[in-house]
Amino acid sequence: MSQQSLISLFLVPTPIGNLRDITLRAIDVLQAVDVILAEDTRTSGILLKHLQISKNLQSYHSFNEHKAVEKLVERMKKGETFALISDAGTPAISDPGFLLVRAVLAAGLEVQCLPGPTAFVPALVASGLPNDRFVFEGFLPHKKGRKTRIDAVVNEPRTLIFYESPHRLLKTLEQLAAAFGGDRQAAVARELTKLHEEIVRGTLIELMDYYQVNPLKGELVLVVAGCTEQRESRTERQEKKQSEWKKENKSRKELE
Ligand code: SAM
Repeated sequence: MSQQSLISLFLVPTPIGNLRDITLRAIDVLQAVDVILAEDTRTSGILLKHLQISKNLQSYHSFNEHKAVEKLVERMKKGETFALISDAGTPAISDPGFLLVRAVLAAGLEVQCLPGPTAFVPALVASGLPNDRFVFEGFLPHKKGRKTRIDAVVNEPRTLIFYESPHRLLKTLEQLAAAFGGDRQAAVARELTKLHEEIVRGTLIELMDYYQVNPLKGELVLVVAGCTEQRESRTERQEKKQSEWKKENKSRKELE
């Protein structure tokens, strides 16, 4: 723990389902820090009870994040040590944490993130889609900006990873099929590490057909193959059309 004593903030990944997916070092750190910051103190209370760790547990979530950061940094400056945990997986990955990490580093203090559970890595690796290069898109916005985000990755050659809720999956599959073409390969990784873990692989259209008849429950990650043929973007097509038209127009004028 000597090296750890220099660290003010630890980000500690917690299981995404199976409680045995906690590392020995995560347990050491949770036992050693002064305070554990938790997204939901009730959810984390269950895990800590299971690990037989009784600690000062404080709430840190997206609604109090902005307000809490400054006070926490002041406490760290006075020597208190903290571990941040989220409801599941790695804190700050589609979860609160980034603002705190940035503020702690800006104050000249040390941050350490332990390696451990996160949903997108097993989903990507088990999807069978290329994983040498990938783009983590997290959650798409529910309404405003959703189409812009999808359009921005139409020609993306790297594998795409999305977090999605079960009741929005069909809509997302439909929108992605409309933008990318229904023949694009994809995979839905559901309930990872849990009793009903399931990975369904197929084209976007095949997945739509599957989930229209098989009701979807639980948490999921959607992995979509990148664009293999470099399709022309709308702007590229427009630019090409404009330059063709300019050429045509020029030769017509020359003939006149
Ligand atoms: N911090 C987490 C991580 O490291 O993956 C992500 C938190 S985010 C609020 C929750 C989303 O993660 C879910 O909506 C789902 O997309 C994904 N997720 C979490 N646990 C999962 C699981 N066991 N199986 C599949 N997806 C999961």
